[in-house]
Amino acid sequence: MTGRRITVVVGTDHHPFERAVRWADDWQRRHPEEQVTVQHGYTRAPEVAAGVELMAPDELSALLAASDVVVTHGGPGTIMGARNAGHHPLVLPRDPLHGEHVDGHQMHFAAWAAEKQLVQLVDTPERLDEEVDALGEAGTRVTRSEAEVTGASAQHLARLVDQLDRRRLPASPGATTVLYLAGADPTSTARVARLLQEQPPGAPLLHEGSLTELRGCSCGKPAAECAFWCDVRRLVEASGAPAADPLPLPTGRFRRDLTVLLAGRKRLTGSLRRDVLRYAAARRALYDAVREVTDAPYVVDAGPSAPPLVALSHDRMIDLRVLHVVRDVRTLAAAGPGSPGQVASRWVAQNAAVEVVRRRGVPVARLRHEELDADPAQALAAVLPALELPDAQDGSLGATPAAPWLDHVGAVDEPGSATGATGAARPLDRGELRRVNAVALPLLLKYGYPRSWM
Ligand SMILES: [Zn+2]
Repeated sequence: MTGRRITVVVGTDHHPFERAVRWADDWQRRHPEEQVTVQHGYTRAPEVAAGVELMAPDELSALLAASDVVVTHGGPGTIMGARNAGHHPLVLPRDPLHGEHVDGHQMHFAAWAAEKQLVQLVDTPERLDEEVDALGEAGTRVTRSEAEVTGASAQHLARLVDQLDRRRLPASPGATTVLYLAGADPTSTARVARLLQEQPPGAPLLHEGSLTELRGCSCGKPAAECAFWCDVRRLVEASGAPAADPLPLPTGRFRRDLTVLLAGRKRLTGSLRRDVLRYAAARRALYDAVREVTDAPYVVDAGPSAPPLVALSHDRMIDLRVLHVVRDVRTLAAAGPGSPGQVASRWVAQNAAVEVVRRRGVPVARLRHEELDADPAQALAAVLPALELPDAQDGSLGATPAAPWLDHVGAVDEPGSATGATGAARPLDRGELRRVNAVALPLLLKYGYPRSWM
């Protein structure tokens, strides 16, 4: 084989991608006739292959167009660039287990792109050896017929890349389904949580807060002595999830950053991105462990606060569904804490977070507290089907006795009654009502509440 021009692109992620650079050097040593170039970014420069740290987009396009073989990391933008330059690239995704990325989203994205025949996925440098060896002179260049086959998918990819800042990709297959209970009134969400547990098949329920904060189990034992939670803890530790169970939540900097999260459109960067993904990864490890121990079809997160919900929506390995429980803020406003205007502002922020995740493509169903009051079971049954939650494996709903794990999940760390309004509030005076309506009316009308009140 005469020398081909082989280009390896690792992108600009700050994690080192040593496997890719080492592969380029190894190949170059064994095939001195070929011309290997690595765009190595923040990884060390190659020793024998040619190295370029970063390139302007048009330089990179020109290099890719002139290459015979293109190998990329799993970044959608890079894959897109390779496709536009006429290649069916070999993709070696960054793997968090090798410290090459903060999470596994490149692996999921690459698997998706491979399924759509947009790329050739290789999971190890050894496989990459075999694939590059097997390619002929044409390398990874796309033939006309291949281009036609993948044309529609490539357009889809272009749209996806375009939307990446705003919209999450579909959850990866095998992801744990999580039903998140969101809303501005903890009393309402706690009620829905109890209902979900009581009706078959029963769903394991997790409250906000981390495993390390968990003191007592609902079985009556301290969490450290309960077999269920010991099993969960062992699985979480074995998963290699972020060690410190996580996020500076919901206080301090993260709360200020909530405004950035709520902007929704903005791609997360820097320390906020790191914190959000760490939080989601730690929470995901807990969901996965509970699912494994219980074998339940889905896990309920009792929510209901806004920053965790938005953070979870950034993790594609969580199959997130949201049950949004809304309540007329004018019945809550006088109960505090704070002035009616402050209650209304918090109410708007909490509910706006749900709109953000809906825009990001997360399925959301809405349940009004007033319907819940009238007939809890029927109100829940009316809205749940829209979320298409998975059924129990055996399909024998109602026939099975209560799951044994129900003793161990649910009653732990329930939110204190101080955080929930009782609803037995005094009426607002005219001025208060005007201030509450001024901030809350657009959402109230959206949720079907009347303009005037009482
Ligand atoms: Zn227990």
